[in-house]
Amino acid sequence: MKKIVVVGAGISGLLAGLALAKEGNDVTIFEATSEVGGMCRSYEINSFRVDTGPHIITRLKNGPLKELMDKYFDIVPEFVLHGEYYIRANKKTYKFPWTLKAFAFFEPISKKDRLMILQTFTSLYSQRIFNPDYDDVSVGDMVKNRDYDEKTLRIIDTICKFLTGNSMDKTPVARFLDSQDYKNSGGRTSQDPIDYLNSMKNLFTKNGAEDQCYPVGGIISIVKAALSSMPENVDIKLNSQVEKIVVEDDRVSGVVVNGEFISSDCVVYSAYSSHLPKIVDRLPGDYRKNLENLEKVISLTLWLGLDKKFFKNSGSEIWVDSDPSCWVVPVTNYDSSLAPPEHQLVGFVTILPDDFDIDKERSRLLKTIVTQLPSIEKHIKMKHFQVLIPEKAAWIVNQKMPTSKTPIKGLYLVGTDTTHKSMGITRASYSVSNLLEAMKE
Ligand SMILES: Cc1cc2nc3c(=O)[nH]c(=O)nc-3n(C[C@H](O)[C@H](O)[C@H](O)COP(=O)(O)OP(=O)(O)OC[C@H]3O[C@@H](n4cnc5c(N)ncnc54)[C@H](O)[C@@H]3O)c2cc1C
Repeated sequence: MKKIVVVGAGISGLLAGLALAKEGNDVTIFEATSEVGGMCRSYEINSFRVDTGPHIITRLKNGPLKELMDKYFDIVPEFVLHGEYYIRANKKTYKFPWTLKAFAFFEPISKKDRLMILQTFTSLYSQRIFNPDYDDVSVGDMVKNRDYDEKTLRIIDTICKFLTGNSMDKTPVARFLDSQDYKNSGGRTSQDPIDYLNSMKNLFTKNGAEDQCYPVGGIISIVKAALSSMPENVDIKLNSQVEKIVVEDDRVSGVVVNGEFISSDCVVYSAYSSHLPKIVDRLPGDYRKNLENLEKVISLTLWLGLDKKFFKNSGSEIWVDSDPSCWVVPVTNYDSSLAPPEHQLVGFVTILPDDFDIDKERSRLLKTIVTQLPSIEKHIKMKHFQVLIPEKAAWIVNQKMPTSKTPIKGLYLVGTDTTHKSMGITRASYSVSNLLEAMKE
């Protein structure tokens, strides 16, 4: 049995603490704030239950969260299928074109541009056999100097923002080429032929987002299920900011919390890796620089409580020609108890530009919703804005993410800035699986 300290009680820290405790270790989780969950929480606003941003959980059939839940959860949340993704353009909705064939008939993009994109995509796939490394090529690089319509570029840019939180100029083309399948070699997998074939197969056969779901009761249900599954050998301490991770002879010896030294055999750090140099002395220079260069994006969510059901489809919408573009999730279509009877709760999320003026961005978002759906205005019963950071590091060209192992013995990282795989809670779960493998080694 090892004595392990986990820094942070967001979903990454909680999953890591739970798994390590169930593997027989003695675990203490320190959380700086007065609440567990971090970016994975739900709370009440005027009788509506909002999440920290709209969330859909991916890869629930056989992904990393499913694997951790199967192995370590005593109670599992109930999940409802997400349904279709729709693209809203020209004030109409279209089903998301998952396959090359569906894309060939995707009306919002002109025929000429559809053909050019299909050619680029298929040739990229073929070239990739000989040159699998597309880490430093952005989607913007692929489309520049081609004669695409303004509207096509906007749609591509919005899809990039939706998938990675970043504009096409910063989104690596690998995000579209890499298979997101679980359990193939950890970090980047572009050279794995099975991975390559799987992602190729998806282009022809993918049948929508079949394994994506929303948790009944809001995303806090995942946190609650993890908490209910915690064995006795886990202690969670709130209002306890870890001020220092202490290293002696290149090995972790403990942490300092509220001025007190607490010894431990291992420390699992789940807060921002970019902040690590501030609390760990003696990190090697290159490693330190890579951490400090990790980039994140900031999102703005507006939750609207409506006294009429405006969104009838089960699923969510990506608004590609609104200003700003946004992702729209009517969560009461999954769980009506999140709002008072006969009301609808809808989350609209967008990525904020650099140097944003928050008041301006709030009114821009509200204005775009009313422009798209003019009759919505008089049915708004609740308005709630959130400014949040979805991923501790966004997926950006040439960015070097650390792995779970660090140069310091006994110090491990988890969280959405330690793996390229997928996004959000799925990504957090990948990182915990990587941690367990790294610790076994
Ligand atoms: C608008 C929005 C939409 C999203 N949509 C989705 C989605 O559709 N699907 C999906 O899967 N994910 C989604 N996400 C992302 C997902 O919520 C996050 O990726 C995930 O919750 C991050 O978990 P984490 O534990 O890695 O980090 P965090 O939640 O940030 O947790 C880190 C914790 O560490 C604590 N901490 C920091 N420093 C210290 C310290 N020194 N000592 C002690 N404690 C410390 C913090 O207080 C925090 O509680 C979305 C997020 C947002 C904001």
